[in-house]
Amino acid sequence: MNNILVTRSSMPSFEEYCEEIKELWDTHWLTNMGTKHKQLEANLKRYLDIDNIELFTNGHMAIELTLQAMNLQGEVITTPFTFASTTHAIVRNGLKPVFCDIDPVDFTIDTSKIENLITDRTCAILPVHVYGNICNIEEIDRIAKKYELKVIYDAAHAFGEKYKGKSAGSYGDASVFSFHATKVFNTIEGGATCYKDEQLGRHLYELKNFGIHGPEEVSAVGANAKMNEFCAAMGICNLRHIDEEIEKRRVVFERYVERLGNIEGLQLNAVQLEVKPNYAYFPVIFDEKVFGKSREEVFEALAKENIGARKYFYPLTNTFSAFHNKYDVTKTPVALHISKRVLTLPLYADLQPEDVDRICNIILQ
Ligand SMILES: *Cc1c(COP(=O)(O)O)cnc(C)c1O
Repeated sequence: MNNILVTRSSMPSFEEYCEEIKELWDTHWLTNMGTKHKQLEANLKRYLDIDNIELFTNGHMAIELTLQAMNLQGEVITTPFTFASTTHAIVRNGLKPVFCDIDPVDFTIDTSKIENLITDRTCAILPVHVYGNICNIEEIDRIAKKYELKVIYDAAHAFGEKYKGKSAGSYGDASVFSFHATKVFNTIEGGATCYKDEQLGRHLYELKNFGIHGPEEVSAVGANAKMNEFCAAMGICNLRHIDEEIEKRRVVFERYVERLGNIEGLQLNAVQLEVKPNYAYFPVIFDEKVFGKSREEVFEALAKENIGARKYFYPLTNTFSAFHNKYDVTKTPVALHISKRVLTLPLYADLQPEDVDRICNIILQ
C-alpha cells in the first residue's frame, strides 16, 4: 500500500515551469523585484480582484513586516489555535499577544469575547481564517472601529476564497496569505500582504528590502524578505491551474463528507453561508465518549497504515515551551478542548477516491 501524506504540493508540468524560467537565463535577473515578481503581482491582483498586494519570501515574514509597517505598540488580540507563525510574528515585533478563545463550530476568534480583553494598550486584532473558515468580519469591523484598532487577518488558509462576493484578501486593514508548498496555492515558499492604505504598501516594499528607501538612504530597520524570480515563476504557473486544483479538492472533500458526515461522535468542519470555499483542509473533531476512539488512537491507526494525518493545530501556541508558561491556557478552554481532539485528514487535488475510502474505512473500523 502506498504512503499517503497529509498533503502533496501542486506543481505545473516540468515543461511549463522550464518555459516560464527560460528568460532568466537571458536577463540573469534572479531576485529584487524582477519581471516574474511584477508579473505574479499583477496576475494575483486580477485573480483575487484586489487593488494592492505586496509579495514576500514567505507568509510569516509578510505577517511580521505588516505588523512592523503599522508601527504598532502594546497588545494584539489573537487566538492560540493557529500555526506558530501568527503568535511569533506578534512577539518578534515586541508586541504582547493577548489570547482570545475560539468559536467551537468554525474555530475562528470568538468575537463575543474580544471586548473583554481590550485595554488602553490594545492596538490591533490579528484573527485567523482557520481552515479557510472566514472570521466574523462584521463584528470584528465593528469592534475595531469602536476602539480604533488595526485589523490584520492571517488569511494563510483562505487563498481563493470569497466572502459575500469579495476576496478574502480584501478585508481588514491587511490580509496576509501564505504561498508555502503545503498551501492551496504555492510559490514553493512565499506569501503576500493585501492592504488598503498606499502608504502602508510603500512601507512594506521597503521593509522587505532592508528598509532601503533610496540609493543613499535607509530609513527603517527592515529585513530581507523579497520573493525571488524562481518562486514567482512557480506562482505564475500554479495560478494558471488554481481553479482546477480547487475543483479537484472539492471532489475529495465531498467524498469525505459522504463517508464521515453522519457518524456519531465526529464533528466535521462548518459549512459557512456566503463563503466560496477553497477546500484547504479536512479537520475532524473526535469525541471519544461518543465515537469510542480518541484522536490519538485514530492518529496511530492511520500512521500504522502509512497515512499521515496531522494534529493541526496542536499544541496551542499559548502552551509552547518557548514561552515558559507565560500564558494561562485555561483562559482559552474551547481552543484547548478542540486542539486535543482535532485531526486534519489528507487532502490534496490528486488524492484518489479509493484513497479517501481507505482512510475512512480505517477510521470507521
Ligand atoms: C502557513 C501558515 C503561516 C505561515 O506561512 P509560511 O508561508 O509558512 O511562512 C501563517 N499562519 C498560518 C495559519 C499558516 O497556516
